[in-house]
Amino acid sequence: MSAIPIQAKEVKSTCCYCGVGCGVLIQTEQGRITGVRGDPDHPANFGRLCTKGSTLHLSTRPEARLLYPELRRNRTDVRQRASWDESLDYVAERFAAIIREHGPDAVAFYISGQLLTEDYYVFNKLAKGLIGTNNVDTNSRLCMSSAVSGYKATLGADAPPACYEDIDHAACLFIAGSNTAYAHPILYRRIEDAKAKNPEMKIIVVDPRLTDTAQSADLHLAILPGTDVALFNGMLHVMLWEGLLDMAYINAHTEGFEALKNTVREYTPKMVADICGIKEADIITASKWFGAGPTLSMYCQGLNQSTSGTDKNAALINLHLATGQIGKPGAGPFSLTGQPNAMGGREVGGMANLLSGHRDLANPEHRAEVAKLWGIESVPEQPGKTAVEIFKAIGDGSIKAVWIACTNPAQSMPDLSSVLAALDKAELVVLQEAFQGTETTSYADVILPASSWGEKEGTVTNSERRITHLNPAVTPPVEARHDWEIATDFALRLGRLLDTTKDAAKLFPYTRPEHIFNEHRETTRGRDLDITGISYGLLDESGPQLWPFPEGSDTGVKRLYTDGIFQKENGKAQFVNTIYKSTAEKTDARHPLHLTTGRLRDQWHGMSRTGTVAQLFNHAEEPIISMNLGDMKRRSIEAGSLVKVSNKRGSLILRAQPSDEMMPAQTFIPMHWGSQFMNCLGSNALMPSAFDKTSKQPELKHAAIKIEKVELP
Ligand code: SF4
Repeated sequence: MSAIPIQAKEVKSTCCYCGVGCGVLIQTEQGRITGVRGDPDHPANFGRLCTKGSTLHLSTRPEARLLYPELRRNRTDVRQRASWDESLDYVAERFAAIIREHGPDAVAFYISGQLLTEDYYVFNKLAKGLIGTNNVDTNSRLCMSSAVSGYKATLGADAPPACYEDIDHAACLFIAGSNTAYAHPILYRRIEDAKAKNPEMKIIVVDPRLTDTAQSADLHLAILPGTDVALFNGMLHVMLWEGLLDMAYINAHTEGFEALKNTVREYTPKMVADICGIKEADIITASKWFGAGPTLSMYCQGLNQSTSGTDKNAALINLHLATGQIGKPGAGPFSLTGQPNAMGGREVGGMANLLSGHRDLANPEHRAEVAKLWGIESVPEQPGKTAVEIFKAIGDGSIKAVWIACTNPAQSMPDLSSVLAALDKAELVVLQEAFQGTETTSYADVILPASSWGEKEGTVTNSERRITHLNPAVTPPVEARHDWEIATDFALRLGRLLDTTKDAAKLFPYTRPEHIFNEHRETTRGRDLDITGISYGLLDESGPQLWPFPEGSDTGVKRLYTDGIFQKENGKAQFVNTIYKSTAEKTDARHPLHLTTGRLRDQWHGMSRTGTVAQLFNHAEEPIISMNLGDMKRRSIEAGSLVKVSNKRGSLILRAQPSDEMMPAQTFIPMHWGSQFMNCLGSNALMPSAFDKTSKQPELKHAAIKIEKVELP
C-alpha cells in the first residue's frame, strides 16, 4: 500500500525518459499538469524519481509544443498552417502516387522507442500489413538491436532473463558499457542500496572512462574502446584455468562449448591485458568474482553501439552460460533498455526485421501467422531497411518518402551530414512530433502535431519486461492528436487510394488504445512473451506486470530459464564462438585520438524535451569535450578554451576541459547537443555509419578524431 494517499487529482503514468520505467503520479489542476511525484506503489522505483523525472511537469509548456498541422507542397515554399484533413489527405495522395509509380518499398517509416506500444503496433501494421513494405524501423535500432541479436543468438529469444529484484540477490554486479549512475539513475540508487546492505557485494565496472558509476566500483576495468570481446573471452580463459565453470550446467543445457573453449585458449591474460590496456591481475580478479557469483551483468550502449555489438553481447552471455549463472536469484545477463518503450517496440515487431509477438520476418511460418492474425493474404518477404539503410536509401533516391514519428534523426543519426543531405533530397518528409524546433523540423514538408507525456493512454514495457498502463492526465493541447490516432486516420485515407483488395477499415478498426492493445495481446498467444492474461483492467487493478503472463496465470514471471530450457529448437542455449575485432575506425597519425560519446545525468537524447526545462542545465550548461590533461598540455590547450574537433565526416567547435575520467588519447563528448542548441552539428556528425552486420546497429560510441586549438582573433 502507498505510504502517502493518492490525491484525487493524481493520475498514474510512467516517466517518459529512460528504460527504468519509473511510475509517476501526475498532478493536475483545471486541465493543466502542475506537478509530478514518484508512484510509491510502482515496483520499478517505489516512489523515487531522478532529476529528469521529477521535472517532467516543467516540460509541458504549450509554448514549446507543435499545436497545428503545417504543410508545404513545394520544397521552396514556407510551410503554412493547414487543417488535419488537408494535411493527411495530401500525405495520403503523395504516398499513394509514389507507391503506384515506384512500389511500396519507395516509402519508409522511421519511428521511436518513445512511442507507446499501441502507437508502435499501428505503425508496424500500416507499413507491413496495409502498404506491403517492411521499411519500418526505429531509433531503438541505435540503442538496443545488438542486445536483441545477442539474446537470440545465445538464448533463442529476445527476453532479458533477470529482473530489478536480482540486484538485491547478487554477490557480484558486472556493469559493462553503462554509466548507470547517469543513464539509469533510479536503478543505480537500487544498486547503492544493495551495496549498503551487503558491503561484501563486488561491483565491477567495464568502461573506458572513469565515470561516476566506475568511481564507486570495487574494480574498474578501463579497457580501450571496443575491446570488450577480448576481455570477456579472456575472463572465460581464466575461469577455465581456475576451474570456475559449471560443467554440469554446460553439459545439460548448452551447445557449442568445445569450439568456444578452443578459441578462448588463445586469450591469455597477458594477451588480453595488452589488447585491452588493463592489468593481468585485474582480469583474473574480475574472473574470480564473476565466477563465484551469483553474478548479475547489466549492460547498455557501450556494448550495443558497436560494429561488434552482437558479439559483445554474446561473449558476455557466454560467461553466464559457462558458469550456470542464469535463471536463479541474483544471476543473469540483463541488458538495460535506453528508451522508455524500446522493449514494447520489440514486442510488436516494430523493426524492419521483426514481426508482431517476437516473430522474425525471415521466418516464412512467422510471416504466415501474422498474415492470418491480421486477415491479409501475406506479409512481404523482402527485408526492410534498417535505420542507417533508410537514410542511405533516401540519399540514393530509392526511398522517396519518409514518415518520421517522435524522433529526431537530423540530430541523432551517425554521419549526420550524409543524413541531412538525404533529407534534403527526399521527395516528401513527414514529421509527427510533439515539440517545436527539433533539428528535423526544418526538413519536414508536413508537420503533424502529436500528443505527449501526460496526455496519452497506452502501455509501455521497461527493461525488466514490466508492462505499465499509462493514463492520460490532460487532453493534448489545441490540435495535437495521439500518435496511434494519426497513424490510424492516415491508414484509412491511404487505404482508399491504394490499388489493393485490403480493407483498411477492417485492418484499423480502432477507436481507443485498448482495442489496439487487445489485438497486440492476441499476437503473443503461445509465444515466449505471451501476455494473454493481461488487460488494461488488470494493470489498473493489480499494477504493472512482468511478462510472460499467459491467460489463466495469477502473475507474471520474474526470472526466465529457471528450468534450464531455452528458446532454441532442442531447448539448449548456444555458446557463440566470439572473436575479438577492433573498432570500425582506428586512430592514426592524422586522427590520433579516440572519441567516445554518452549521456549526461540531466539531459535526454536530443533534448527536445529536457531542453525546455531551464533547471536541467544546472548540471551542464553546454557540451564540452573532456580530455586527458596530458593530451591537452601536448597541444597547448588551456582548460575552457575552444578547440576544433574533426575527422573526415565533419567538425565541431567546443570548449575543452581536462578530466580525470579520461585515459590518455581518449576524449568524450555528451551526445545531447545538436544545432538547435549550438552553432554546429552534434557529436554524431563525427561518428561513422558502419554497423554490426547482424544487428545493424551503428557504431555510435567510437570515432577517430583530431583536435586543434582554435586561435581567436
Ligand atoms: Fe525517469 Fe529513468 Fe529517471 Fe526513472 S530513472 S525518473 S525512468 S529518467
